[in-house]
Amino acid sequence: MAKKREPDLMDKLVSLCKRRGFIFQSSEIYGGINSCWDYGPFGVEMKRNIKDYWWKCMTQYRDDIEGVDAAILMHPQVWETSGHVESFTDPMVDCKKCKQRFRADDIEGFICPACGGQLTQARRFNLMFKTHMGPVEDEASVCYLRPETAQGIYVNFLNVIGPARQKIPFGIAQIGKAFRNEISPGNFIFRSREFEQMEMQYFVNPRDDERWLEYWKEERMRWYLAIGIKDENLKFHQHDKKELAFYAKTAYDIEYNFPFGWKEIEGIHNRTDYDLSRHSQATGKDLSYFDEKSKERFIPYIIETSAGVDRTMLVCLVDGYHEEIVKGEKRVVLRLDPKIAPIKASILPLVNRDNMPEIAKKIEKMLRPHFNVFYDDSGAVGRRYRRQDEAGTPFGITVDSQTLQDETVTLRERDSMEQTRYRIDDLISVLNKKIWG
Ligand code: ATP
Repeated sequence: MAKKREPDLMDKLVSLCKRRGFIFQSSEIYGGINSCWDYGPFGVEMKRNIKDYWWKCMTQYRDDIEGVDAAILMHPQVWETSGHVESFTDPMVDCKKCKQRFRADDIEGFICPACGGQLTQARRFNLMFKTHMGPVEDEASVCYLRPETAQGIYVNFLNVIGPARQKIPFGIAQIGKAFRNEISPGNFIFRSREFEQMEMQYFVNPRDDERWLEYWKEERMRWYLAIGIKDENLKFHQHDKKELAFYAKTAYDIEYNFPFGWKEIEGIHNRTDYDLSRHSQATGKDLSYFDEKSKERFIPYIIETSAGVDRTMLVCLVDGYHEEIVKGEKRVVLRLDPKIAPIKASILPLVNRDNMPEIAKKIEKMLRPHFNVFYDDSGAVGRRYRRQDEAGTPFGITVDSQTLQDETVTLRERDSMEQTRYRIDDLISVLNKKIWG
């Protein structure tokens, strides 16, 4: 049974993220802008670690997936063809009394949760941000901020498959920003209007579609376990007929047990040949594939894995947050996987004398080309450890009086608080092993 989470955990996380330089509200000194977030020094490192690890797992560690980085602004017809202009909508209701707007599927009944007023009938609201390209703001210049990165992959299918000399099955991966004018954003970075996606579209023979869907389901679940997320807080949710997009054959979400309930963090969908067929019809370009082995020609089916960077970040923060009592004092600790942690090790001289700061600085210089480390000599060492615990730093390296005699240091583990002595010369390999396994 998954652990029931404390209801005020989200408030604690928002305040920790602000205090420790992970995430701030956008344009805060102007009073903030709703549903947009800025990542600070620790946040940007952590987010980058999540993206880098995903990218490595998708591209560097395999030979069947290529990367792209497509433009955010695309030909407006792409969004007609994909169906977004017509049907990328959510049902919206208005309160007749206080005029607030809600996503109809977030509301039960016909009464406004804010003021008790009556709600209107639901209307469809398109979630795409519209803008204009060039100096003339007319209908002909309309274009959109992409609401997903996937279309940038589909329209580049031919461009990639040729030069990369890939054969089906193969995939194309992309990480990038997406924009949705969400009706009710919220729950911190869970649902915002500007966010990042990590998407991989895998092109397969239609006969093998369900096998590859199963493969990617398992593979993606394993990835969340590899970044340290607890098994009991993850599950699959299969879309029933009502939820299934009209073009999809089978679809699963990976869900996480957030303090506000089980919610989607990634979609793994069998999109059939819908996307390539539609783009082929709209452009007249042949997007079929000839399989040399079986001598068959077909439009590839697409198995999509679509994850949110920001949601993954939130999952890591929620899953890692712990409070415990140590020697009568509350300790807040972010148990982030070392691969994801923004700072890998802090380097602390026990006291600011006897050459300890100089040695600690030397160690910092030695480690910096390999890891993101942090030198800290201010305050009692216990206090310095606590600050790093809260920021999720997995290791603390302390220079003490024994260092002066035998060139060893203590390495403190964030989670167990155990300390082991290592030779300074061995630190790089010890840390590499502890971080990457
Ligand atoms: P939801 O039902 O929560 O709106 P969705 O089914 O519309 O999500 P997809 O279109 O499948 O989401 O997008 C893939 C992934 O992109 C999601 O699993 C999520 O991680 C991320 N994502 C989608 N919308 C947002 C958003 N508004 N803010 C942050 N991340 C998002």
